[in-house]
Amino acid sequence: IPLSLATLADVPADVARPTYDRSNLRAGILHIGVGNFHRSHMAVYLDRLMNMGLAHDWAIVGAGLRAGDADMRDRLAAQDWLTTVVDRDGTGESARITGAMVDYCPVDPAAILAAMSDPLIRIVSLTVTEGGYFLGRGGAVRLDDPALHADIANPDAPKTVFGLIIAALRQRRDAGQPAFTVLSCDNVQGNGDITRRVTLAVAEAQDPELAGWIAAHVAFPNGMVDCITPRSGPRELALVQDCFGVRDAAPVVCEPFRQWVIEDHFPAGRPPLEKVGVTFVDDVKTHEIMKLRLLNASHASLCYAAALMGYAHVDQAMADPVLSGWLKALPTRETIPTLEPIESVDYAAYLDSVLHRFGNPAIADTIARLAQDGSDRQPQFILPTLRDALARDLPIDGLALELAIWMQFCSAPPIPLEDPMAAALQAAAQSGPQAFLGQTAVFGHLGQNPRLRAAVAAAYEGLQQEGVEAMLSRYLTTAP
Ligand code: NAD
Repeated sequence: IPLSLATLADVPADVARPTYDRSNLRAGILHIGVGNFHRSHMAVYLDRLMNMGLAHDWAIVGAGLRAGDADMRDRLAAQDWLTTVVDRDGTGESARITGAMVDYCPVDPAAILAAMSDPLIRIVSLTVTEGGYFLGRGGAVRLDDPALHADIANPDAPKTVFGLIIAALRQRRDAGQPAFTVLSCDNVQGNGDITRRVTLAVAEAQDPELAGWIAAHVAFPNGMVDCITPRSGPRELALVQDCFGVRDAAPVVCEPFRQWVIEDHFPAGRPPLEKVGVTFVDDVKTHEIMKLRLLNASHASLCYAAALMGYAHVDQAMADPVLSGWLKALPTRETIPTLEPIESVDYAAYLDSVLHRFGNPAIADTIARLAQDGSDRQPQFILPTLRDALARDLPIDGLALELAIWMQFCSAPPIPLEDPMAAALQAAAQSGPQAFLGQTAVFGHLGQNPRLRAAVAAAYEGLQQEGVEAMLSRYLTTAP
């Protein structure tokens, strides 16, 4: 059955579908970056609420700025913005058709700006990837980036997410309308604080008075998001058709686990997400650090080793005792000791649950997906732990080995090196550890740390002589 509103009633009974009347929904959220994760996570929470008869004025309008988004828009348009979401674990799968999205702006900044300026939109949410925040060395905003530069010079014709947010807020202010809340859902530490910082830096360069108004009136809550969601490809399309009889051109297949912890700072209102399992807190920092440094960092420390050892899928890599042992030993010895305790959270148990989730054979997350954008991800997920460990004189051998393995991967990638800095990373890696760590755009001052330089050089030397598997085994058998 081709998915659309007209065929919803004919979908097989084991597929859950909206129990609400979509024609009664009203837009309240504009989401930029309608990739797979948004549709496995935020859109599912909203769909659940809508099925409870709630949040019908918080429907989602999608938006995207990149060429690839036009393809997603076309696919979703043909099926009335509906998405089939399949939750899978080792024991089975369940499918639901979600209907929380009611429109998707044309992939054109002017159209997105017009939609954001509508006072009905009270939340602008983002999943624009870790690289979408224009962060440079030490977290500085790269105002000299040509795209931001252009938005600063032409505030009325913005092309970046941040230029758009500012232009829409200016229109709201000038029309005497309240501001929307900006909610980042990306894996970036302090995602709300960073979104605020970039927005204010660009606004300040355009119009300091407007920057002051934004600082006073716009909320940017921090949030921690979680639901492992691989890219959808032919395998996922076939699964939805074969197992559930639905022909969906853009389905999402993900794990059943979902977590969302958000700071409760929404002056323009918000959907009652606490009714569907979202946790609202005053300060999300410790939860966020736990997730970034244990889950995302484990993805980052698995993917390059697994790629070099010839694995294509995460669950296959996790079935290798050397790799699963490495993923348990590294955070246990070197990451958890750097974390502040969180009341009622047991880090060792959290790590075990993460590793169990990585082993989910039904998800088939790819090593290639995890290996992309290392130049954005290593600084978010691995380097903060290293910085803390060095400052407190804690062990760093495993973290240094992780960097050396990434370097080896960049030097001679066994799968395509998908990274905005690919050419620079490869050239630096081929010039040796000191050149690799000397890339200030990635490592900042940390790359100059003598203890780190010595540890990475030793690990890299070991990798050249013995290979990845032997070095990981050695790490496992060396008493901490
Ligand atoms: P995806 O490739 O399916 O979608 C990415 C979206 O971001 C696309 O719409 C793309 O156009 C947009 N985008 C990328 N760079 C951009 C830029 N510079 N400016 C504007 N838009 C940009 O990826 P996904 O799986 O949906 O993941 C997106 C993000 O969600 C991740 O980078 C991460 O921060 C967060 N996240 C993902 C997962 C997951 O398991 N996939 C889990 C938790 C959090």
